Amino acid sequence: MGLIENRFEKNVLVTTVDSVLNWARTSSMWPLTFGLACCAIEMMATGSAHYDLDRFGIIFRATPRQADIIIIAGTVTKKMVPPILKVYNQMPDPKWVVAMGSCATTGGPFKTYSVVQGIDKYLPVDVYVPGCQPRPQTLIASLVHLQDKIKAEHTIAKK
Ligand code: SF4
Repeated sequence: MGLIENRFEKNVLVTTVDSVLNWARTSSMWPLTFGLACCAIEMMATGSAHYDLDRFGIIFRATPRQADIIIIAGTVTKKMVPPILKVYNQMPDPKWVVAMGSCATTGGPFKTYSVVQGIDKYLPVDVYVPGCQPRPQTLIASLVHLQDKIKAEHTIAKK
């Protein structure tokens, strides 16, 4: 017992500001949901108790001012671009964008004049979630991938 107590007293914790910032950011990712079509149903299912996103520190927010991620889930029509940009601009920095499903990624099966052929024409997408429709497991895997991406970011070091 005495050996364990002495072991921790002699250790020093060394880390970087970037590591602490990224740890905090990845431990409390709050996505603003922007459900536009069928993909939104899968996104809602991902937030259910069965999949339990809370265990990753991911909690959906209904206001852009408290969100750091926006999930574009579904078919983006050109008419919906202004409201998407409006809420995106209301989000504080740093912020990240997830394009969920083939519609948000490439326009999906809708090769028409009224559908945006990929939300990355308007927003800087960080993660693309493949599939039509993507299952909740796919969205979870994409969010975990985004966590890994954030962990590799250098906020202080690049300055
Ligand atoms: S990708 Fe498929 S499931 Fe998702 S919004 Fe488009 S048509 Fe619907």
